[in-house]
Amino acid sequence: MKYIDSPVDKIFFRNRDFYLKRDDLLDIEFSGNKARKFYYFINKDFKDIKKIVSYGSAQANSLYSLSVLAKIKNVKLDFYVSHIASYLKENACGNYKKALANGANIIEVSKNGEEIQEYIENIILPNGKGLIFIEEGGRVKEAEFGIKILAQEIINFKECKKIDKLNIFLPSGTGTTALYLQKNLDCKVYTTACVGDEKYLKKQFFHLEKDENFHPIILNSSKKYHFGKLYQEFYQMYQELRKSTSIEFDLLYDSLGWKILLENFEKIDGEIIYIHQGGLLGNESMLKRYENKYMLS
Ligand SMILES: *Cc1c(COP(=O)(O)O)cnc(C)c1O
Repeated sequence: MKYIDSPVDKIFFRNRDFYLKRDDLLDIEFSGNKARKFYYFINKDFKDIKKIVSYGSAQANSLYSLSVLAKIKNVKLDFYVSHIASYLKENACGNYKKALANGANIIEVSKNGEEIQEYIENIILPNGKGLIFIEEGGRVKEAEFGIKILAQEIINFKECKKIDKLNIFLPSGTGTTALYLQKNLDCKVYTTACVGDEKYLKKQFFHLEKDENFHPIILNSSKKYHFGKLYQEFYQMYQELRKSTSIEFDLLYDSLGWKILLENFEKIDGEIIYIHQGGLLGNESMLKRYENKYMLS
């Protein structure tokens, strides 16, 4: 896989200046964010490994990225999911379709995320050989390896541009990326919870790092959103970003991310760099759902 120092653009959105770290350009197959998080595994020797085991949503970016990793490493992928929506089974698209094409074994088990994690740890792993378990969304310690490189790229950019106060913003799922960025940067890292609420995100931070000094700052929304649900305002934000910057952003994380960032803009002192974490393959299925729901043409 090609791996480069991703460029930084300057964008002007809603009358404000932002820097934009273009991790979406890193590698479409690894959806930017997952390229950073799985970088350790991409470089790892898989000599004694026969199969990658993971779990999450049937439409997750991590599912597709892991299917690519399995293909590169010539190993199998068993990916456990709680549920595959019937429309998706009938009309495979996006991450799900592409992961299947890469030979991913997507296994439906009627358990929730926590139960699947226990099932894998207590039943699957002890009874298998040559397995490597990568937790949901890549929320693993190994992720720090690649995210540290991202942090270094940001430090280089800041020094090169002689920026006095640089703040980082990125929307979070498991919070792994935000946490390891904060751990490896002197700048303030701001984020928001796209999956679950602030409490869930804080718990994720503690899962990876006990010292709260290394936790990013969580910005909250005045309104509650459910991950993966369709909101007309998210679609509008996506369109507005596209028109105004000519850049495509992700509908699951970035629409909410930008909304929260704009709401809290005045609280942040100094320049802001927004991390574009890719995820554009996932837009395919999201756009279909928006079109079906709102009859857009
Ligand atoms: C996985 C992913 C995220 C969430 O990253 P975390 O480290 O889990 O917070 C955000 N954006 C995109 C596009 C992703 O694929």
